[in-house]
Amino acid sequence: MAATGIVTRFAPSPTGLLHLGHAFSALVAWRTARAAGGRFLLRIEDIDTARCRPEFTAAILEDLAWLGLDWDGEVRVQSGHFAAYAATLEALRGRGLLYPCFCTRAEIAAAAPHGPEPVYPGTCKHLDAGEAAARIASGAAHAWRLHMDRAAAGRTLSFSEHGERRVCDPMPFGDVVLARKDTPASYHLCVTQDDEAQGVTLVTRGEDLLPVTAIHRLLQEVMGWPEPEYAHHRLLVDAGGQRLAKRDGAPAIRALREAGLSVEAVRARVGIFE
Ligand code: GLU
Repeated sequence: MAATGIVTRFAPSPTGLLHLGHAFSALVAWRTARAAGGRFLLRIEDIDTARCRPEFTAAILEDLAWLGLDWDGEVRVQSGHFAAYAATLEALRGRGLLYPCFCTRAEIAAAAPHGPEPVYPGTCKHLDAGEAAARIASGAAHAWRLHMDRAAAGRTLSFSEHGERRVCDPMPFGDVVLARKDTPASYHLCVTQDDEAQGVTLVTRGEDLLPVTAIHRLLQEVMGWPEPEYAHHRLLVDAGGQRLAKRDGAPAIRALREAGLSVEAVRARVGIFE
């Protein structure tokens, strides 16, 4: 890929204030784009309308600007694109690659092998089509799951990270949700579709998301979307070696700023000096 062709992005979810870990991610992506004369895009991943708040979106934009980051073009806000996600879901349904799932979280947890994220045991995959349609017509809450074995059949998937090709396999994730019960899309669908819609050629994000790249590569292949390059960066950790996370009180950029730290000092805290 020609260096000047790089289009990369930062895609935070506005569920809280930006912390140092986000600042690191944003700066890595921004610096990569600017160093290559490429484009740096900003996307707000706010489909989870129960957890995301517009005031956090406003705060994110302000904190990024304070950090000295500029982005190209309009900010893409996912909640404005539900119709586009619905069109993809319709296309996948038409190809027999989705099925409705009526299970509750508790039912899935009880039936699935134990683990941090239970793999869906496939209960609703075997529902009679007529019965599923009747339940939908009666207003039963349901998600839409990817028929993983059908979607992945016959495909050997891989992705390219810093020019090195790595094989990946989405099968262990099982029939992932592409449209949630509470919101008519899901992270996996929206992140992949938006990278395509925004012409992203380099997905820059934390290495915690490396495993799910297999799911995203599958969706790209199934939909015929171009394959981007990937750059999964290390995660910032606290003094105890724990990953920085909002819920554990990672320092918000805003708090550091209000405490009088300069932009240079905050950049230095994440190891980015220039
Ligand atoms: N919105 C996701 C997050 O905040 C990141 C998107 C992605 O790059 O996959 O973790």
